[in-house]
Amino acid sequence: MPNPETAPAKASNFLRQIIEADLASGALQGRHFAGQPGDAAALAQAPLDAARIRTRFPPEPNGYLHIGHAKSICLNFGLAGDYGGVCHLRLDDTNPEKESQEYVDAIRDAVRWLGFDWVSAGVSHEYFASDYFDFMWRAACALIEAGLAYVDEQSAEDMRRNRGSLTEPGVPSPWRDRPAAESLQRFREMREGLHAEGSMVLRARIDMASPNLNLRDPALYRIRFAHHHRTGDRWCIYPMYTFAHPIEDALERITHSLCTLEFEDQRPFYDWLLEHLAALGLLERPLPRQYEFARLNLASLITSKRKLAQLVAEGRVKGWDDPRLPTIAGLRRRGYTPGALRLFAERIGVSKSDSWIDYSVLEGALRDDLDPQAPRAMAVLDPVPLVLDNWDEVIGAGRLEACQAPVHPHQPERGQRDFQLGPRVWIERSDFEFEPPKGFFRLYPGGRVRLKYGYVVECTGAERASDGSVLEVHARIVPDTRSGTPGAAAVKVKGVISWVGAADGLAAEVRLYDRLFLADQPDAGGADFLQALNPDSLRVVQAWVEPSVAAAAPGTSFQFERHGYFVTDSRDHVGGRLVFNRTTGLRDGR
Ligand code: ATP
Ligand code: MG
Repeated sequence: MPNPETAPAKASNFLRQIIEADLASGALQGRHFAGQPGDAAALAQAPLDAARIRTRFPPEPNGYLHIGHAKSICLNFGLAGDYGGVCHLRLDDTNPEKESQEYVDAIRDAVRWLGFDWVSAGVSHEYFASDYFDFMWRAACALIEAGLAYVDEQSAEDMRRNRGSLTEPGVPSPWRDRPAAESLQRFREMREGLHAEGSMVLRARIDMASPNLNLRDPALYRIRFAHHHRTGDRWCIYPMYTFAHPIEDALERITHSLCTLEFEDQRPFYDWLLEHLAALGLLERPLPRQYEFARLNLASLITSKRKLAQLVAEGRVKGWDDPRLPTIAGLRRRGYTPGALRLFAERIGVSKSDSWIDYSVLEGALRDDLDPQAPRAMAVLDPVPLVLDNWDEVIGAGRLEACQAPVHPHQPERGQRDFQLGPRVWIERSDFEFEPPKGFFRLYPGGRVRLKYGYVVECTGAERASDGSVLEVHARIVPDTRSGTPGAAAVKVKGVISWVGAADGLAAEVRLYDRLFLADQPDAGGADFLQALNPDSLRVVQAWVEPSVAAAAPGTSFQFERHGYFVTDSRDHVGGRLVFNRTTGLRDGR
């Protein structure tokens, strides 16, 4: 975690201004909380909340988290950390069908990996919305008794039609004014499983003529005979998100409930509900407040759990942690670091208007984070042999030359890497041309180049296969030109190439990833995003790498000189097998 003493001051934004104003005005005072969510009566027994603010990150455990969630995690945990507050991890599991323990575990893992923790002063602030089902039931009954909710038995179709439109007011349901006792009776029957799915719902009783459609008697509870991953078959009615979410915030004494802009129209209902429940004595004041910020949209990426789930289920990618996916698990396996994602979140900031962020901003943060950390290494991704024909005369038959290079060019204290130069080395196929185009300063017949950290060599030609492809390049060492020896610089060359010795190079599988979608907005306007899949998003090559990478644990990043950043694969780089994922190039190349 960044040290607050030395970290640069963070840029202000509208959320920071709101929090600072709330702290200054005392608007947040009087909240009781000691880690146990509760109603007004229970909280009255608790001490005053020691946390200055409370935020929450409330994912639904119906998939793996993605880069958009990373923005929300950094925002919620970051603000809590900066203002002496606490951020809760809330599993918003009110929708039984698609939720599972696997997703709960993946969410915990992603938040922790990003460097955040919901345990504060020894108290765990991990909560499950399903733990509040009893309270939600009670709150719904209280609303019915107060004439603020009713059971509607219209068909779903009638309900939709009678909701009206932006230009026409809604038509009240024939059940709207039924006696509270009757609604209550029906609501109990719903809970007891006496009615079919879709036959009736509980609705708030607000205003069928409201210009805000969300206030035209929104549904609060529906019947679902579904098994819940935590409450089992205890319930066959489940609260709607719009009803559940404000209550979850209130029970947990959240002060600032941050959500994305599409919930702006829900805010009046959020306030309506909490005000009434507080007036009924069920919730403690001051009440949480909702604030909206722009969601993260990244060009060429899909960030919808539903669509990501489809890619996984249909086998278009290899699992939720496929390095081509913008899931946190995928980004991690691709070689993204927690620091890079936090830096990215800091750079994009928060605003109140939607915008598209260019992918280069994400990669820029990644390179800035990796550059000072990643050890350097040489690798040849498209290998062709280079034979040094005068090796025996100049160096000696059977001899190898020990070469050295810094682990990191700007951090000499990190020491040196060792590798051997011999009569045969691997070079990149693209570093040789029979007929060099203008400005090509690498190997071509008669051309001179420096083998990085080694000798200057002069190319004498190459052997070709019958199809014209190069089989083997030949060159001669220019004596007395070895890097780091006196007079080595006397022979000037315009090109330097990387290489890996045939004597000590290690064979490696390298997975070269490209964008998963060819379109910048693959799902814009409801387009079929599968049509935009890039058929060449993964290319696997057999490469050679220098011996210094031999002992790297899975998940270790390197900069392969001239090529970019690569990471050892977290699954397959095991048992002596070397498997690298390309994280990103050295420059923006998308
Ligand atoms: P999806 O549409 O991918 O399923 P979601 O919003 O339904 O996403 P939730 O699990 O409900 O997923 O999200 C948890 C939190 O993450 C919410 O507070 C939501 O606002 C936030 N979040 C989700 N996607 C983004 C995004 N692209 N940018 C910023 N915040 C996001
Ligand atoms: Mg959701």
